[in-house]
Amino acid sequence: MLVRLIYASRSTGTLAAADVKDIVRSSARNNAKLGVTGALLLSNGIFLQCLEGDHRLVNALYHRILLDTRHSDPAILSYREIDQRLYAGWSMGLVTTTEANRQLFMKYAPQAEFDPYDIRPQALDALFAELVEQARVLAG
Ligand code: FAD
Repeated sequence: MLVRLIYASRSTGTLAAADVKDIVRSSARNNAKLGVTGALLLSNGIFLQCLEGDHRLVNALYHRILLDTRHSDPAILSYREIDQRLYAGWSMGLVTTTEANRQLFMKYAPQAEFDPYDIRPQALDALFAELVEQARVLAG
């Protein structure tokens, strides 16, 4: 069964650009082997990640990611079966906070500050769909 899992977490301490690069590099390598695709947003010290793939592999990967000390306070915001992937081409794209992306986050978020913990599942799907369309994914 093909699923999409979207979760949020908070970065622990201040992550250097090299830490984020490390995360994206291992993610791209490991996810490609698993056939898991998706995108990782980092804004305002909060991660928002979309993972798509076989439900057993996505579940196992999520549990591995939970053990990572570089983030805390994880919350699954959406988990559902999907007919097709949004991110068929990206093993793990990184979305950074450009001004254009900030406006996109605002479009779907109740607050001015980026806080995905409060965004409804349908809006999260729409947010990730729009990110794909606008091709603001910088690495994958
Ligand atoms: P390597 O790639 O060999 O490790 C890379 C570097 O990360 C090493 O320098 C190591 O010191 C450091 N590192 C590894 N694990 C930890 C840890 N638990 N705590 C602190 N530093 C560590 N991994 C994926 O495979 N796919 C994903 O989609 C994914 N998404 C992530 C999203 C977030 C928000 C975070 C914080 C991590 C994510 N990770 C993801 C990373 C994951 O938690 C593991 O670190 C990674 O899968 C380990 O891969 P590896 O065994 O190939 O290690």
